Amino acid sequence: MTSSFTRMLSSRSTVAVMASLGAGTLVTGYLMSDTGRAVFPERRKMFPPSADFPDLCKHNNCMASALTPAIYARLRDKVTPNNWTLDQCIQTGVDNPGHPFIKTVGMVAGDEESYEVFSELFYPVIKERHNGYDPRTMTHPTDLDASKITSGMFDENYVLSSRVRTGRSIRGLSLPPACSRSERREVERVVIQALSNLKGDLTGHYYSLGEMTEEEQQRLIDDHFLFDKPVSPLLTCAGMARDWPDARGIWHNNEKTFLIWINEEDHTRIISMEKGGNMKRVFERFCCGLKEVERLIMERGWEFMWNEHLGYILTCPSNLGTGLRAGVHVRLPLLSKDPRFRKILESLRLQKRGTGGVDTAAVGDVFDISNNDRLGKSEVELVQLLIDGVNYLIDCEKKLEDGHDIKIPTPITLFKN
Ligand code: ADP
Ligand code: MG
Repeated sequence: MTSSFTRMLSSRSTVAVMASLGAGTLVTGYLMSDTGRAVFPERRKMFPPSADFPDLCKHNNCMASALTPAIYARLRDKVTPNNWTLDQCIQTGVDNPGHPFIKTVGMVAGDEESYEVFSELFYPVIKERHNGYDPRTMTHPTDLDASKITSGMFDENYVLSSRVRTGRSIRGLSLPPACSRSERREVERVVIQALSNLKGDLTGHYYSLGEMTEEEQQRLIDDHFLFDKPVSPLLTCAGMARDWPDARGIWHNNEKTFLIWINEEDHTRIISMEKGGNMKRVFERFCCGLKEVERLIMERGWEFMWNEHLGYILTCPSNLGTGLRAGVHVRLPLLSKDPRFRKILESLRLQKRGTGGVDTAAVGDVFDISNNDRLGKSEVELVQLLIDGVNYLIDCEKKLEDGHDIKIPTPITLFKN
């Protein structure tokens, strides 16, 4: 079988030759890229970059804070080897000024090279989103040794379920905002072929979204196993819902404790979860399963996108590095009504979501609490940070129950600025 690297090189050089031909020889014509997008080199040159600068005056996302007219002018006409542009990276952030619950990033990558070609914008965005991590000078560690975790069993009077997820992208294929149908179908083929070789507790099946009934799909969503339908404008404006549900699906083991989403926001999302508070066991299964999935993918000549400064490369810059979101559904009726709640979460580098996912508000007193950072710290460090943080929150809840006072902890700083 041809290796992914050879495939990548051959397809990329074809596009590069076409692009250089276009710039040098065509006067009024245009080229169709391999994904069917039109490139108009001459028309673009008719207008200076200042005439194309987006209106960001009402925006509150990381991209809008970092993008200056000077950066835009230098990057507007650059393209990645797959013909992906800066405007395509930032479209979601231009169309979505803010998110009601979290400060969004406001840009996505179309391919692995987007992070390099448009680094002048991606890097400051990454630095803001990842608590001062500087991709130019810092390197990202990986540690999947779950035996290092301590205090990983939560009080189940408060914690209802525990989950750890990450994402992985297949090198040589464009990411969901940019991929063609054939690339998306290739991701699905490569991944389910690898997964069919998982053994023991990890043995499972693939369920294609297109072949599921509406009821089956809704049941999996309601049980928190499956991604929601792509109604969020953050996803649709980034182009990630194109051709839905073509080549999307979920693979899971028989117990539904190890799950892999295919072609949602990332090529793959790899999830370990179970009811109750045993985060250590969830993380053990996560590490074990993830290593096995990588081995099976590599055995077939493919590899994950990765580099030492950005770690694992994913669609959204907020997920770079480990891609890891370890979280619990936790009941905090008193603390969540306390005015210090937000500040406590911030100090502990934790994020709060509704229990139906990123776009939902909390129902009742139950919240999805997870680590806020993904990059510059290892998987073990981030899971430990989440465990210590959630134990602190539960402690606060118990103190409030007993009528005692609580404290905002000293803020955790992950990196020196
Ligand atoms: P992700 O970061 O994995 O994309 P989302 O916020 O989009 O997470 O949520 C995806 C789904 O995962 C939702 O159905 C959500 O309820 C479920 N989920 C997230 N965390 C947990 C948890 N700790 N326990 C149970 N389900 C969870
Ligand atoms: Mg999501």
